[in-house]
Amino acid sequence: MGKVLESFTYIENPSMLKTACAELEKASVLCVDTEFHRESTYYAEFALIQIASRDVCYLIDPLAIDDLTPLWDVILNPDILKVFHAARQDVEIIVNKTGKLPLPLFDTQVAAALLGFGLQVGFGNLVQKVTSKALPKAESFTNWLKRPLTESQLTYAADDVIYLMPVYQHLAERLQATARTEWLDEEQEVLCAAETYANDPEQIFWRVKGSNRLRPRQMAVLRELAAWRERAAQQRDLPRRRLIQDEPLLALARKTQLDEEQMAHIRGLNNGVVRRFGSEILAAWQRGQDCDKENWPQVSRSPQYSEGTEMRLELLMTLVRLRAEKVEIAANILASRSEVAALASWANHGNGNGNKTDWDSPPKNHCMRGWRKKLIGDDLLRMLRGELCLRLDPQTHMPIVDKPASSRTD
Ligand SMILES: [Zn+2]
Repeated sequence: MGKVLESFTYIENPSMLKTACAELEKASVLCVDTEFHRESTYYAEFALIQIASRDVCYLIDPLAIDDLTPLWDVILNPDILKVFHAARQDVEIIVNKTGKLPLPLFDTQVAAALLGFGLQVGFGNLVQKVTSKALPKAESFTNWLKRPLTESQLTYAADDVIYLMPVYQHLAERLQATARTEWLDEEQEVLCAAETYANDPEQIFWRVKGSNRLRPRQMAVLRELAAWRERAAQQRDLPRRRLIQDEPLLALARKTQLDEEQMAHIRGLNNGVVRRFGSEILAAWQRGQDCDKENWPQVSRSPQYSEGTEMRLELLMTLVRLRAEKVEIAANILASRSEVAALASWANHGNGNGNKTDWDSPPKNHCMRGWRKKLIGDDLLRMLRGELCLRLDPQTHMPIVDKPASSRTD
């Protein structure tokens, strides 16, 4: 482990910010973290931003400084790599404030998943594994908007970026050593795409809990209701569920008739909300009802598996587990059970109706793309075609992958 910084500077006025940013501008790698609250607002309430290079660590107070332009210039500088742990929400704040993505970036949580630390490893856990340092947990539910911040809050906030640097260095080296740097680029594609942060009101209904239980016409109604709720929440900067929870929104979508009187009887729908927004809700509901059939959302139903899928699936999953062990990452990162089930079903889809499986066009799922395809997808196909077999090694009594006896040349 390289050296770990032992001090930080609290930045609370524009001239300090200017000096700090001139220093940060010299770095090629910066570790970044933000502290925010979003319990009572739609947009995150931005309370603190921490940035560390190898030489300096600054805690920047956005409540004390109106114009953060010098900071955004550093964060958006394309020549500086920005390192985050679980970058999504931090990036969302930066996108909200600047309209731009802080590229290039490196997410240590994503990198860790590709190196055998498991899916969504926590920061404290990762620091402990990489540096053997146990960070205190005490400040996770602290009030970051209160001023002045206490000494222990400040230390906690600084540690979040100070220890990010050795973690980053370790992970970057191991990605390089195992030739997985490209994997990281692929894994971060969604994180680095502007659409990810767009929150399109027209598409938000997919995220309403329980929406998959609705019929297509009801989905069309839900789409309008959820879009209305999203815009109303954005305008008033309120959490969307503060206006209407998901359950009553589903109940509204299921109604075949609706007026404000009936609305008042829906459980979980607040009377104040009905009084204030009843006519808007009614209008959204009506727009959904009026939606033409061809514009209803396309709902993918849970698949009907072909004959023998269960047995093929177990065989394929053993191959996935073997491969995952070999490269020392979690099996579900390599290929999820449901994707493998789709492949296992597809391999027999022509059975009985005269069609033959088209081996050149397998389902376009995750494990059939990029590094996963090379590592596991291609072999899953070979196994489905009968070109690979699994057997037990007589010495180790563990499963091994082999060619079928009939195709062996020795
Ligand atoms: Zn933090």
